[in-house]
Amino acid sequence: MKVNTQYTTIESLLELYNKPLLELVFEAATVHREHHDPREVQMSSLLSIKTGGCPEDCGYCPQAARYHTDVDAHKLMSVDSVIEQAQNAKQNGSSRLCMGAAWREVRDNKDFDNVIEMVRAVNDLDMEVCCTLGMLSENQAERLKNAGLFAYNHNLDTSADYYDDVISTREYEDRLNTIENARKAGISVCSGGIIGMGEAVEDRVGLLMSYMEMETPPESIPINALVAVEGTPMADQKPIEQWEMIRMVATTRIAFPQSVVRLSAGRTKMNMEGQALCFMAGASSIFAGDKLLTTPNPEYNEDMEMFKILGLIPKKSFADGEKPVSKPDAIIEERKKKEKARAEQLAEAREASTREGFEPRKVTLVK
Ligand code: SF4
Repeated sequence: MKVNTQYTTIESLLELYNKPLLELVFEAATVHREHHDPREVQMSSLLSIKTGGCPEDCGYCPQAARYHTDVDAHKLMSVDSVIEQAQNAKQNGSSRLCMGAAWREVRDNKDFDNVIEMVRAVNDLDMEVCCTLGMLSENQAERLKNAGLFAYNHNLDTSADYYDDVISTREYEDRLNTIENARKAGISVCSGGIIGMGEAVEDRVGLLMSYMEMETPPESIPINALVAVEGTPMADQKPIEQWEMIRMVATTRIAFPQSVVRLSAGRTKMNMEGQALCFMAGASSIFAGDKLLTTPNPEYNEDMEMFKILGLIPKKSFADGEKPVSKPDAIIEERKKKEKARAEQLAEAREASTREGFEPRKVTLVK
Protein backbone atom coordinates (compact mmCIF):
# COMPACT_ATOMS: atom_id res chain seq x y z
CA MET A 1 0.00 0.00 0.00
CA LYS A 2 1.78 3.11 -1.20
CA VAL A 3 1.12 6.81 -0.66
CA ASN A 4 1.44 9.59 -3.23
CA THR A 5 4.89 10.95 -2.48
CA GLN A 6 3.98 14.37 -3.91
CA TYR A 7 1.73 15.01 -0.92
CA THR A 8 3.56 13.98 2.22
CA THR A 9 3.48 17.33 4.03
CA ILE A 10 0.56 19.15 5.58
CA GLU A 11 1.24 22.16 3.31
CA SER A 12 1.14 20.11 0.11
CA LEU A 13 -2.03 18.31 1.23
CA LEU A 14 -3.67 21.61 2.10
CA GLU A 15 -2.76 23.05 -1.27
CA LEU A 16 -4.23 19.98 -2.92
CA TYR A 17 -7.44 20.15 -0.87
CA ASN A 18 -7.91 23.82 -1.81
CA LYS A 19 -7.47 23.38 -5.57
CA PRO A 20 -10.34 24.58 -7.80
CA LEU A 21 -12.92 21.82 -7.36
CA LEU A 22 -13.14 20.59 -10.94
CA GLU A 23 -9.36 20.48 -11.30
CA LEU A 24 -9.18 18.49 -8.09
CA VAL A 25 -11.86 16.06 -9.29
CA PHE A 26 -10.11 15.67 -12.65
CA GLU A 27 -6.77 14.88 -10.97
CA ALA A 28 -8.46 12.44 -8.60
CA ALA A 29 -10.33 10.75 -11.45
CA THR A 30 -7.03 10.32 -13.33
CA VAL A 31 -5.31 8.76 -10.31
CA HIS A 32 -8.35 6.56 -9.67
CA ARG A 33 -8.30 5.17 -13.21
CA GLU A 34 -4.60 4.31 -12.95
CA HIS A 35 -5.16 2.11 -9.90
CA HIS A 36 -8.78 0.92 -9.93
CA ASP A 37 -11.56 -0.12 -12.27
CA PRO A 38 -13.70 3.07 -12.20
CA ARG A 39 -16.94 1.16 -12.76
CA GLU A 40 -16.52 -1.09 -9.75
CA VAL A 41 -17.96 -0.01 -6.41
CA GLN A 42 -17.86 -2.29 -3.41
CA MET A 43 -21.14 -2.69 -1.56
CA SER A 44 -20.68 -3.30 2.14
CA SER A 45 -23.31 -3.86 4.78
CA LEU A 46 -22.85 -2.47 8.25
CA LEU A 47 -24.55 -4.46 10.97
CA SER A 48 -24.80 -3.32 14.58
CA ILE A 49 -24.26 -6.57 16.47
CA LYS A 50 -24.30 -4.86 19.88
CA THR A 51 -26.06 -1.53 20.05
CA GLY A 52 -25.87 1.36 22.52
CA GLY A 53 -24.83 1.63 26.15
CA CYS A 54 -21.25 2.55 25.27
CA PRO A 55 -19.20 4.10 28.09
CA GLU A 56 -17.21 6.37 25.72
CA ASP A 57 -18.05 10.02 25.05
CA CYS A 58 -17.52 10.41 21.27
CA GLY A 59 -19.38 13.69 20.68
CA TYR A 60 -21.04 12.53 17.45
CA CYS A 61 -22.28 9.17 18.63
CA PRO A 62 -25.89 8.39 19.59
CA GLN A 63 -24.72 5.07 21.09
CA ALA A 64 -22.84 6.68 23.98
CA ALA A 65 -24.74 5.82 27.17
CA ARG A 66 -24.26 9.33 28.59
CA TYR A 67 -26.25 11.09 25.84
CA HIS A 68 -30.06 11.17 25.82
CA THR A 69 -30.75 9.89 22.34
CA ASP A 70 -33.47 7.55 21.14
CA VAL A 71 -31.01 4.66 20.73
CA ASP A 72 -31.80 1.83 23.17
CA ALA A 73 -29.10 -0.49 24.41
CA HIS A 74 -29.23 -4.10 23.19
CA LYS A 75 -27.06 -7.04 24.08
CA LEU A 76 -24.91 -8.90 21.56
CA MET A 77 -26.89 -10.50 18.72
CA SER A 78 -26.90 -14.28 18.45
CA VAL A 79 -24.58 -15.98 15.99
CA ASP A 80 -27.61 -17.36 14.09
CA SER A 81 -29.20 -13.92 13.63
CA VAL A 82 -25.91 -12.54 12.33
CA ILE A 83 -25.65 -15.40 9.81
CA GLU A 84 -29.22 -14.68 8.65
CA GLN A 85 -28.47 -10.96 8.23
CA ALA A 86 -25.25 -11.76 6.39
CA GLN A 87 -27.09 -14.06 3.98
CA ASN A 88 -29.64 -11.30 3.28
CA ALA A 89 -26.86 -8.76 2.72
CA LYS A 90 -25.10 -11.15 0.34
CA GLN A 91 -28.32 -11.75 -1.58
CA ASN A 92 -28.68 -7.99 -1.98
CA GLY A 93 -25.23 -7.74 -3.55
CA SER A 94 -23.00 -6.90 -0.57
CA SER A 95 -19.59 -8.51 -0.74
CA ARG A 96 -18.48 -7.30 2.70
CA LEU A 97 -20.15 -7.39 6.10
CA CYS A 98 -18.92 -5.01 8.73
CA MET A 99 -20.03 -5.92 12.24
CA GLY A 100 -20.02 -3.11 14.78
CA ALA A 101 -20.25 -3.42 18.56
CA ALA A 102 -20.61 -0.36 20.80
CA TRP A 103 -17.76 -1.32 23.11
CA ARG A 104 -14.91 0.77 24.47
CA GLU A 105 -12.64 -2.22 23.99
CA VAL A 106 -12.81 -5.92 23.36
CA ARG A 107 -12.89 -8.05 26.51
CA ASP A 108 -11.76 -11.67 26.62
CA ASN A 109 -15.17 -13.09 27.49
CA LYS A 110 -18.00 -15.19 26.09
CA ASP A 111 -19.23 -12.27 23.96
CA PHE A 112 -15.88 -12.08 22.21
CA ASP A 113 -15.94 -15.87 21.72
CA ASN A 114 -19.30 -15.39 20.01
CA VAL A 115 -17.89 -12.64 17.78
CA ILE A 116 -15.14 -15.08 16.78
CA GLU A 117 -17.86 -17.59 15.81
CA MET A 118 -19.65 -14.86 13.80
CA VAL A 119 -16.47 -13.98 11.92
CA ARG A 120 -15.88 -17.64 11.06
CA ALA A 121 -19.48 -18.13 9.90
CA VAL A 122 -19.57 -15.03 7.69
CA ASN A 123 -16.17 -15.82 6.19
CA ASP A 124 -17.60 -19.26 5.35
CA LEU A 125 -20.29 -17.45 3.32
CA ASP A 126 -17.49 -16.10 1.11
CA MET A 127 -18.02 -12.54 2.26
CA GLU A 128 -15.25 -10.23 3.40
CA VAL A 129 -15.65 -9.81 7.14
CA CYS A 130 -14.80 -6.55 8.86
CA CYS A 131 -15.29 -5.78 12.54
CA THR A 132 -15.37 -2.56 14.50
CA LEU A 133 -15.33 -3.44 18.18
CA GLY A 134 -13.30 -0.70 19.84
CA MET A 135 -9.79 -1.06 21.17
CA LEU A 136 -8.08 -4.35 20.49
CA SER A 137 -5.00 -6.09 21.94
CA GLU A 138 -2.47 -7.95 19.83
CA ASN A 139 -3.73 -11.28 21.07
CA GLN A 140 -7.37 -10.44 20.30
CA ALA A 141 -6.38 -9.29 16.82
CA GLU A 142 -4.60 -12.60 16.34
CA ARG A 143 -7.75 -14.55 17.34
CA LEU A 144 -9.88 -12.52 14.93
CA LYS A 145 -7.40 -13.08 12.14
CA ASN A 146 -7.40 -16.84 12.80
CA ALA A 147 -11.19 -16.88 12.67
CA GLY A 148 -11.08 -15.38 9.16
CA LEU A 149 -11.34 -11.62 9.72
CA PHE A 150 -10.47 -9.73 6.55
CA ALA A 151 -10.40 -6.17 7.89
CA TYR A 152 -10.60 -4.25 11.16
CA ASN A 153 -12.16 -0.80 11.28
CA HIS A 154 -10.91 1.74 13.79
CA ASN A 155 -11.37 5.34 12.73
CA LEU A 156 -9.06 8.14 13.81
CA ASP A 157 -12.10 10.39 13.25
CA THR A 158 -10.18 13.67 12.88
CA SER A 159 -6.74 15.24 13.27
CA ALA A 160 -4.66 14.71 16.41
CA ASP A 161 -5.11 18.46 17.14
CA TYR A 162 -8.90 18.46 17.02
CA TYR A 163 -9.35 15.06 18.63
CA ASP A 164 -9.79 16.37 22.20
CA ASP A 165 -12.75 18.46 21.06
CA VAL A 166 -14.49 15.28 19.96
CA ILE A 167 -13.56 12.59 22.50
CA SER A 168 -12.11 12.72 26.00
CA THR A 169 -12.36 9.12 27.19
CA ARG A 170 -9.46 7.78 25.15
CA GLU A 171 -6.38 9.14 23.47
CA TYR A 172 -5.41 9.45 19.82
CA GLU A 173 -2.47 7.25 20.74
CA ASP A 174 -4.84 4.47 21.89
CA ARG A 175 -6.41 4.51 18.45
CA LEU A 176 -3.06 4.32 16.73
CA ASN A 177 -2.11 1.36 18.94
CA THR A 178 -5.24 -0.57 18.01
CA ILE A 179 -4.58 0.03 14.33
CA GLU A 180 -1.03 -1.18 14.87
CA ASN A 181 -2.26 -4.34 16.64
CA ALA A 182 -4.57 -5.17 13.74
CA ARG A 183 -1.73 -4.51 11.31
CA LYS A 184 0.69 -6.79 13.25
CA ALA A 185 -1.84 -9.63 13.06
CA GLY A 186 -1.90 -9.26 9.26
CA ILE A 187 -5.43 -7.85 9.14
CA SER A 188 -6.29 -5.27 6.49
CA VAL A 189 -6.86 -1.85 8.11
CA CYS A 190 -9.96 0.28 7.56
CA SER A 191 -9.65 3.71 9.15
CA GLY A 192 -11.04 7.11 8.28
CA GLY A 193 -12.85 10.08 9.66
CA ILE A 194 -15.84 12.34 9.90
CA ILE A 195 -16.13 15.82 8.49
CA GLY A 196 -18.62 18.44 9.61
CA MET A 197 -17.89 18.19 13.35
CA GLY A 198 -16.84 21.86 13.57
CA GLU A 199 -13.24 21.14 12.55
CA ALA A 200 -11.10 23.40 10.38
CA VAL A 201 -9.94 22.40 6.90
CA GLU A 202 -6.49 21.90 8.46
CA ASP A 203 -7.98 19.15 10.65
CA ARG A 204 -9.42 17.32 7.64
CA VAL A 205 -6.02 17.41 6.03
CA GLY A 206 -4.43 16.65 9.42
CA LEU A 207 -6.40 13.39 9.52
CA LEU A 208 -4.92 12.42 6.16
CA MET A 209 -1.50 13.44 7.44
CA SER A 210 -1.83 10.93 10.31
CA TYR A 211 -2.31 8.19 7.72
CA MET A 212 0.53 9.59 5.65
CA GLU A 213 2.85 9.16 8.65
CA MET A 214 2.01 5.46 9.11
CA GLU A 215 4.48 2.90 7.87
CA THR A 216 1.63 1.42 5.83
CA PRO A 217 -1.48 3.54 5.21
CA PRO A 218 -4.93 1.94 5.63
CA GLU A 219 -6.12 -0.29 2.81
CA SER A 220 -9.51 1.34 3.24
CA ILE A 221 -10.36 4.93 4.21
CA PRO A 222 -13.99 5.74 5.00
CA ILE A 223 -15.03 9.38 4.63
CA ASN A 224 -18.13 10.23 6.62
CA ALA A 225 -20.19 13.39 6.90
CA LEU A 226 -21.50 13.99 10.39
CA VAL A 227 -25.07 12.82 10.88
CA ALA A 228 -26.06 15.20 13.67
CA VAL A 229 -28.25 13.29 16.09
CA GLU A 230 -30.58 14.89 18.63
CA GLY A 231 -29.25 14.41 22.15
CA THR A 232 -25.55 14.31 21.22
CA PRO A 233 -23.23 17.30 21.83
CA MET A 234 -23.00 17.74 18.04
CA ALA A 235 -26.76 17.85 17.48
CA ASP A 236 -26.65 21.50 16.39
CA GLN A 237 -23.74 21.27 13.94
CA LYS A 238 -24.70 22.74 10.58
CA PRO A 239 -24.73 20.10 7.83
CA ILE A 240 -21.81 20.37 5.45
CA GLU A 241 -22.23 21.06 1.75
CA GLN A 242 -21.84 18.05 -0.51
CA TRP A 243 -19.00 19.88 -2.27
CA GLU A 244 -16.96 19.41 0.89
CA MET A 245 -17.50 15.63 0.76
CA ILE A 246 -16.44 15.60 -2.91
CA ARG A 247 -13.33 17.64 -2.05
CA MET A 248 -12.41 15.32 0.84
CA VAL A 249 -12.97 12.17 -1.23
CA ALA A 250 -10.87 13.55 -4.10
CA THR A 251 -8.00 14.64 -1.83
CA THR A 252 -7.99 11.23 -0.11
CA ARG A 253 -7.97 9.43 -3.45
CA ILE A 254 -5.00 11.42 -4.74
CA ALA A 255 -3.02 11.10 -1.50
CA PHE A 256 -3.66 7.33 -1.16
CA PRO A 257 -3.96 6.07 -4.74
CA GLN A 258 -4.12 2.37 -3.85
CA SER A 259 -6.53 2.49 -0.89
CA VAL A 260 -10.27 1.97 -1.15
CA VAL A 261 -12.00 5.28 -0.43
CA ARG A 262 -15.40 4.71 1.15
CA LEU A 263 -18.22 7.15 0.69
CA SER A 264 -19.80 6.38 4.05
CA ALA A 265 -22.23 8.17 6.39
CA GLY A 266 -24.08 11.26 5.20
CA ARG A 267 -25.21 10.03 1.77
CA THR A 268 -28.85 10.75 2.61
CA LYS A 269 -27.98 14.45 2.51
CA MET A 270 -26.38 14.16 -0.94
CA ASN A 271 -28.16 14.03 -4.26
CA MET A 272 -27.24 11.55 -7.00
CA GLU A 273 -25.17 14.15 -8.86
CA GLY A 274 -23.07 14.79 -5.74
CA GLN A 275 -22.50 11.08 -5.22
CA ALA A 276 -21.67 10.67 -8.91
CA LEU A 277 -18.90 13.25 -8.54
CA CYS A 278 -17.59 11.34 -5.53
CA PHE A 279 -17.41 8.12 -7.60
CA MET A 280 -15.76 10.09 -10.38
CA ALA A 281 -13.27 11.43 -7.82
CA GLY A 282 -12.34 7.98 -6.59
CA ALA A 283 -14.87 6.73 -4.08
CA SER A 284 -15.03 2.99 -4.67
CA SER A 285 -17.24 1.74 -1.90
CA ILE A 286 -20.56 2.52 -0.25
CA PHE A 287 -22.53 1.06 2.62
CA ALA A 288 -25.71 -0.56 1.38
CA GLY A 289 -28.94 -0.95 3.35
CA ASP A 290 -31.24 1.57 4.97
CA LYS A 291 -29.31 1.80 8.24
CA LEU A 292 -25.71 2.65 9.11
CA LEU A 293 -25.46 1.18 12.61
CA THR A 294 -28.15 3.47 14.04
CA THR A 295 -28.35 6.34 11.53
CA PRO A 296 -30.26 6.46 8.21
CA ASN A 297 -28.76 5.46 4.85
CA PRO A 298 -30.30 5.41 1.36
CA GLU A 299 -32.68 2.53 0.58
CA TYR A 300 -31.21 -0.44 -1.26
CA ASN A 301 -33.47 0.13 -4.30
CA GLU A 302 -32.37 3.77 -4.57
CA ASP A 303 -28.74 2.66 -4.69
CA MET A 304 -29.48 0.03 -7.32
CA GLU A 305 -31.19 2.69 -9.44
CA MET A 306 -28.15 4.94 -8.99
CA PHE A 307 -25.79 2.11 -10.03
CA LYS A 308 -27.91 1.55 -13.16
CA ILE A 309 -27.96 5.21 -14.15
CA LEU A 310 -24.23 5.73 -13.50
CA GLY A 311 -23.19 2.41 -15.05
CA LEU A 312 -21.57 1.16 -11.84
CA ILE A 313 -21.16 -2.51 -10.96
CA PRO A 314 -20.82 -4.11 -7.51
CA LYS A 315 -17.29 -5.32 -6.82
CA LYS A 316 -16.79 -9.02 -6.08
CA SER A 317 -15.54 -10.13 -2.67
CA PHE A 318 -11.80 -10.71 -2.16
CA ALA A 319 -10.88 -8.66 -5.22
CA ASP A 320 -8.31 -6.83 -3.07
CA GLY A 321 -6.87 -9.75 -1.14
CA GLU A 322 -7.17 -13.47 -0.63
CA LYS A 323 -9.94 -14.99 1.41
CA PRO A 324 -8.57 -15.67 4.91
CA VAL A 325 -8.42 -19.31 5.99
CA SER A 326 -10.39 -19.87 9.19
CA LYS A 327 -8.42 -21.84 11.78
CA PRO A 328 -9.72 -23.38 15.02
CA ASP A 329 -9.66 -21.08 18.05
CA ALA A 330 -7.85 -22.73 21.00
CA ILE A 331 -9.93 -20.93 23.64
CA ILE A 332 -13.26 -21.85 22.04
CA GLU A 333 -12.13 -25.44 21.43
CA GLU A 334 -11.24 -25.75 25.13
CA ARG A 335 -14.60 -24.28 26.18
CA LYS A 336 -16.45 -26.67 23.87
CA LYS A 337 -14.48 -29.63 25.27
CA LYS A 338 -15.50 -28.65 28.80
CA GLU A 339 -19.13 -28.13 27.79
CA LYS A 340 -19.16 -31.55 26.14
CA ALA A 341 -17.67 -33.22 29.23
CA ARG A 342 -20.23 -31.45 31.40
CA ALA A 343 -23.13 -32.56 29.18
CA GLU A 344 -21.87 -36.16 29.20
CA GLN A 345 -21.60 -36.16 32.99
CA LEU A 346 -25.12 -34.81 33.32
CA ALA A 347 -26.49 -37.39 30.88
CA GLU A 348 -24.69 -40.16 32.78
CA ALA A 349 -26.08 -38.92 36.06
CA ARG A 350 -29.59 -38.77 34.64
CA GLU A 351 -29.32 -42.28 33.26
CA ALA A 352 -27.95 -43.67 36.54
CA SER A 353 -30.82 -42.12 38.49
CA THR A 354 -33.41 -43.81 36.29
CA ARG A 355 -31.91 -47.32 36.35
CA GLU A 356 -33.69 -49.67 38.73
CA GLY A 357 -31.82 -50.44 41.90
CA PHE A 358 -29.42 -47.56 41.49
CA GLU A 359 -29.30 -44.61 43.79
CA PRO A 360 -28.59 -41.36 41.91
CA ARG A 361 -24.85 -40.66 42.08
CA LYS A 362 -23.57 -37.32 43.22
CA VAL A 363 -21.80 -35.72 40.27
CA THR A 364 -19.01 -33.20 40.59
CA LEU A 365 -19.17 -31.06 37.48
CA VAL A 366 -16.09 -29.97 35.58
CA LYS A 367 -15.64 -26.23 36.10
S1 SF4 B 1 -18.25 5.82 18.42
FE1 SF4 B 1 -17.95 3.78 19.26
S2 SF4 B 1 -16.64 4.11 21.02
FE2 SF4 B 1 -17.51 6.12 20.52
S3 SF4 B 1 -19.37 6.26 21.80
FE3 SF4 B 1 -19.98 5.44 19.82
S4 SF4 B 1 -19.96 3.22 20.10
FE4 SF4 B 1 -18.77 4.11 21.75
